[in-house]
Amino acid sequence: MEIKKLEVGGFENNCYILTCPRAHESIIIDPAAEADRILHEVEGRNVKYILLTHGHRDHIGALEEVRITTGAPVGIHAEDAQALKKVPDFFLKDGQTLTCGEYSIKVLHTPGHSPGGVCFQMGKILFSGDTIFPNGPGNTSIPRADAQIILESIHLKIFVLPDDTIIYPGHGLETTVGREKATPFYLSTRRRTGNQV
Ligand SMILES: [Zn+2]
Ligand SMILES: [Zn+2]
Repeated sequence: MEIKKLEVGGFENNCYILTCPRAHESIIIDPAAEADRILHEVEGRNVKYILLTHGHRDHIGALEEVRITTGAPVGIHAEDAQALKKVPDFFLKDGQTLTCGEYSIKVLHTPGHSPGGVCFQMGKILFSGDTIFPNGPGNTSIPRADAQIILESIHLKIFVLPDDTIIYPGHGLETTVGREKATPFYLSTRRRTGNQV
């Protein structure tokens, strides 16, 4: 699988384009902004899906343009779907598997930053949206976010993955599951929260 990361827009969002070179099939994750750059990247390929990690405005700025031009179906978790101008083509569900050529991508529902936040897992690669970043979780001081729920999502859905799983977040640089588990933030929250997660 080829992974192309495009940093787009004023909030330095990461749009990821996954391509199976044998099948010439691609998936676009979070068409956040700068539709022309995203569309240039997928020229001549079959875009199978447009997948959204969540419904926040900074992640969907180029959605309509990319959707119209590619004709690809849009998937988002039902809990975040009201953020979209148009009804999505399908709802993402926890544990669901999608395919792109020879590869399969698993949907992990990871609420906390938003109720319908999801991550996409492809082997030892995780596209985490705004759920987890280097050195801590995503922002929970916003409407519909919950600091306790995001910790549960991270411990139950992400920290159970192999330590060498690479995390590609919705903004900024990559990290790994092992590196995050060992950061002071999670070591201290684990002490505070005991074994409830
Ligand atoms: Zn967000
Ligand atoms: Zn964001």
